[in-house]
Amino acid sequence: MSYYPTSVLDLIKSFAKLPGVGEKTAERLAMHVLRMPRPEAERLARSIVAIKDKVKICSMCFSLSDGDICQICADPRRNTALLCVVEQPADMVAIEKSGAFQGTYHILQGVLSPMDGVGPEDIRIKELIQKVAGGRVKEVVLATSTVVEGEATAAYIAERLKGYPVQTTRIASGVPMGNDLKYVDQVTLKRALDTRHAF
Ligand SMILES: [Zn+2]
Repeated sequence: MSYYPTSVLDLIKSFAKLPGVGEKTAERLAMHVLRMPRPEAERLARSIVAIKDKVKICSMCFSLSDGDICQICADPRRNTALLCVVEQPADMVAIEKSGAFQGTYHILQGVLSPMDGVGPEDIRIKELIQKVAGGRVKEVVLATSTVVEGEATAAYIAERLKGYPVQTTRIASGVPMGNDLKYVDQVTLKRALDTRHAF
């Protein structure tokens, strides 16, 4: 690999840092960029810089946003009494694509994972409790993944929400056990939401 010029080597190294990209793939991607028409390469470079400059975290749901408040939180047609709790923005996108949900979201930005040193104070649980304590939320739908950490996180939140006048539900078992929400097909996801049950 050291036979490449430094600039090519730099790009290969950058690609190789991306998740799931090994050295061989990084090399192939760099060659692909090299062959790209210049405007296309510039567009790619600009969009990478733009995502760092422009994307913010929504102050209400903690999803990704162009402004202080995301499009969903700003939409007056969304039902603010119904709050869906997910792990990551990608999970919210998966649910939105299913078209099964008209409420609002709360993105935890992670899951409880004692093995990795992630405790309740490391994800947005405190903010969720505050939101529920505000009194407007009537139902919290726990739509964390069905892997062990997702189940543990849902159980922890359900426990913390006891004592608040809110109904806590869990997405139905339609979501295959051990699955990440964003990989679940839309029909299954819609069914899982439609048939959610009390926690
Ligand atoms: Zn939002």
